[in-house]
Amino acid sequence: MASLSLPQVDFRAAAAEGAADARLREAVRNNTLRKQEGREARWTELPDAQALRELAARIKQHTLENLDYYLRQLVDAVRRNGGVVHFAADAEQARQIVLEIAQQTGCRRIIKSKSMATEEIELTPHLERAGLDVVETDLGEFIIQVSHDRPSHLVAPIIHKDRRSIARVFSEYFHAPYNDDPPALTQQARLFLRDKFRRSEMGITGGNFLVAQTGQVCVVENEGNARQSLTTPRVLVSLVGIEKLVPRMSDLAVMVKLLARSSTGQIMTVYTNIFGSPRQNGERDGPQEFHLILLDNGRSQILGDPEYREVLRCIRCGACLNVCPVFRSIGGHAYNSVYPGPIGALLSPLMFGLERYKDLPQATSLCGACGEACPVKIDIPRLLISLRRDMVNRRLSGKLERLIYRLWAWGLQSRFLYRVIGALQRWDLRRRADADGWIARLPKLAAGWTAQRDMPAAARRSFHNIWKDRH
Ligand code: SF4
Repeated sequence: MASLSLPQVDFRAAAAEGAADARLREAVRNNTLRKQEGREARWTELPDAQALRELAARIKQHTLENLDYYLRQLVDAVRRNGGVVHFAADAEQARQIVLEIAQQTGCRRIIKSKSMATEEIELTPHLERAGLDVVETDLGEFIIQVSHDRPSHLVAPIIHKDRRSIARVFSEYFHAPYNDDPPALTQQARLFLRDKFRRSEMGITGGNFLVAQTGQVCVVENEGNARQSLTTPRVLVSLVGIEKLVPRMSDLAVMVKLLARSSTGQIMTVYTNIFGSPRQNGERDGPQEFHLILLDNGRSQILGDPEYREVLRCIRCGACLNVCPVFRSIGGHAYNSVYPGPIGALLSPLMFGLERYKDLPQATSLCGACGEACPVKIDIPRLLISLRRDMVNRRLSGKLERLIYRLWAWGLQSRFLYRVIGALQRWDLRRRADADGWIARLPKLAAGWTAQRDMPAAARRSFHNIWKDRH
């Protein structure tokens, strides 16, 4: 929990900035809508979609309940296959392990495929600072790297960018004339990366899943760059969170069936890589060394709390982001964490400290869309409410906020007071409205309600009074 010492994240200011950026809103909205439509189309093709979700949730929950057993099984299997297993308690340790492997094997040129765990520990900048030549090989992550930006979505890191901004970055980076034709942009990156692949000495991947029984890592992708990263270099390092385990290959099949459908609206991704050992006798390619780094970094703490344990079922498909009205309005950067959106509003406070991310449990409309979209049935809305409860119990909300809620609770307990306060509110709101019945600005504490849009005035008669008259 080293992050507790970091400053608190100002979500409100970042969200206001995101909401005011029309280009960003449009890019995020179009992209997420497209993904959501794709997901819905693929799900309706499944005759047993709900049963499959239920099964996936049970597989992941069972694995988490018995994680020590399955971790031992995984470690034994990886060692049997000829790999080396490392445990990293936190980000610092994980970065140090990668650095030491690079130093001990004499690797300086590193190619890396997309991975949330490596983003989480900020591995690439760390290795670059140590003087190593690291290149992100996923196109989106490569664009993020060369533009010194941050990913804004679990699956689509450049969801906030359009082709013109990418063309400007490439023109500057490659010292080439501006050209925003997508195939031309892809070709520029391809030529650059091809050379990096050829000369690479170490490959780094994450892992979508770990199979305890066989000691293998599964990485799904669409570009083939992960496959290059794990077959071309002589040393392969996979850095994976401990929660990514499933017991058997048959369980992996269930997960793979759900992941691409939920994430990109595909039946399957173009490549499904399953690996976990150095090159075997008689094989013509593959690494000479394979290292698996199992990352904790706050996961054990979540695992130890039965109420929040289910959060670790997450397979990072991004479906909850795509359906979230808050994410669509503000984009991913506003969350100031590698994990944005509804699942980020849970993971960031739980992994990196509620004190630091105390605004995130409020960053939700509680519409329930995220919970319904989740392929492993994480009850995100309920858990966000639990985090709000924790904030109150730990007195993390402001004094004024606590006073207001206490007064509110007091008012709600008395029928008389409820009616009097309601009547006063209606009178006040109506007197502030213009001739068309809209309020453009509310004062002081209530100003946030009208900061982004007008608010309709209250009805002349309360619902209670209308109900009483009719019945
Ligand atoms: S919480 Fe569920 S929907 Fe959201 S990213 Fe994780 S698995 Fe996907």
